[in-house]
Amino acid sequence: MKERVKENEDVSKCKTHLKKRRGITLIALIITIIVLLILVAITIDVAVDGKLFDTAKDAVDKTNNKVGQQQNRVDELMGELDNALNTSGGNSLSPGDKADTTTKYEDSNGDIAVIPAGFTVSGLAEENKIDDGLVIYLIPDGETVDWANGAEVATAQTTYDQFVWIPISHEQINNMYICQAKTGENGNCNIEVVNGEAKCTVHNSSQMAGRLYATDSGESFEKAYTEVYTPNTGRREPDVLTHSTYADGNSTLLTQLSSILGTEGYDTTANFKQSLQEEYNEVVKSVYENQGFYVGRYETSNMVNSNTNSTVRTVAGTKTGMGTIIWHRMYAQQKKYAENKGLTSVKSTMMQGSAYDQVMKFVENGTRPDGRTYTIKTVGNVGHELSLITTKPYQTGGRDYSTNYTGTTLYNDKVKNIYDLEGNVDTRTTEASDDEYRVDRGGTYSDSESASYRGGRWAGAGDSTSGSRLQLYIGL
Ligand SMILES: [Zn+2]
Repeated sequence: MKERVKENEDVSKCKTHLKKRRGITLIALIITIIVLLILVAITIDVAVDGKLFDTAKDAVDKTNNKVGQQQNRVDELMGELDNALNTSGGNSLSPGDKADTTTKYEDSNGDIAVIPAGFTVSGLAEENKIDDGLVIYLIPDGETVDWANGAEVATAQTTYDQFVWIPISHEQINNMYICQAKTGENGNCNIEVVNGEAKCTVHNSSQMAGRLYATDSGESFEKAYTEVYTPNTGRREPDVLTHSTYADGNSTLLTQLSSILGTEGYDTTANFKQSLQEEYNEVVKSVYENQGFYVGRYETSNMVNSNTNSTVRTVAGTKTGMGTIIWHRMYAQQKKYAENKGLTSVKSTMMQGSAYDQVMKFVENGTRPDGRTYTIKTVGNVGHELSLITTKPYQTGGRDYSTNYTGTTLYNDKVKNIYDLEGNVDTRTTEASDDEYRVDRGGTYSDSESASYRGGRWAGAGDSTSGSRLQLYIGL
């Protein structure tokens, strides 16, 4: 037996050798034929009949076909290799591509984001890297953007909703959220997803809460943190506000939720509290599993101050439906956004306080349009003088700022591709304060406050400077 095996190996080697030789011979033949063809064409053109030409051409054609077939097979194999890499989470979307299914996107630095189905990765170099603020656009089927055409891009930015990816590592998530069983300082929760739900494995709790980067209104960002969750008092998230006139204890205000979101979960203060908690746990799970979330690139517009299910927007160049909206309607209309858009890949909600803090950490020390550092703890990225701004609020993305503002502070309220964090209208959040206030963030066209600033308003009130911002989390 051994001898025969040996013999077969020898035969095999010989065949391989022959094949190699045949290969060389074939190439030599082709060259010879080509040389012959040239010679024939130049010197003895019509001296021979067409048969030599035909035979030579035939040989070359057959060889080319064979080479072509082999190349096709190689291409097919390379395609299969690409597919295999894509399904295992490799770089499958390129800038300008639309995600047909929720897909990972790897940028040129090797950083990863998750692109929800239906969204398109920006085709602009300054918008397709995660570190710089990765922008995704919600472009309907059948419509396209020529990313090389500046005018077309500018129009796209006023037309299609845009969001920016905020990466949250598994390390950072424990600086963003806590569990409600935590009693100590930071660092002693370990949040994971266990059996399909977010859970702190240290305290064995599935009740999630925000770790907020201040403990009081006006307090400097990161001077202190809310390290424990205390319901009904102080700064916390999530929670209802029990005040019977100005907040969730008022059934008329609850109706503003239920008329848009349905009565289930929004008919009583207790049920609303449970709905907020369920949503919060779901957001934490999504942020853990996807290692990030999306923030509206612009302040939310197209909100209405009635119990109407209006489809809100996050686009540049509008000032419609931003101020003077009651918190409950802002919450309900932003929560309803993803469903109104027919999106099943993501869910939407009002900006959460914990998420806003992470947006601040993401943009901190980023570069603003004039090349200087964008400051989140001090003002100066945009003007705030009420008397110097003619139309209030001005358009999102500062589109009409230079003609609308007569002061000296140039528009630099853009960092990591997110606009108007410091100015225009502020950002109302789900963060609760005492028994009657929802926390709002940033300054306005008339309040000279920094981007990270924490203020607050009665939940049941809204004035012309109060705005909000969408938050998206990958659907579960
Ligand atoms: Zn914990």
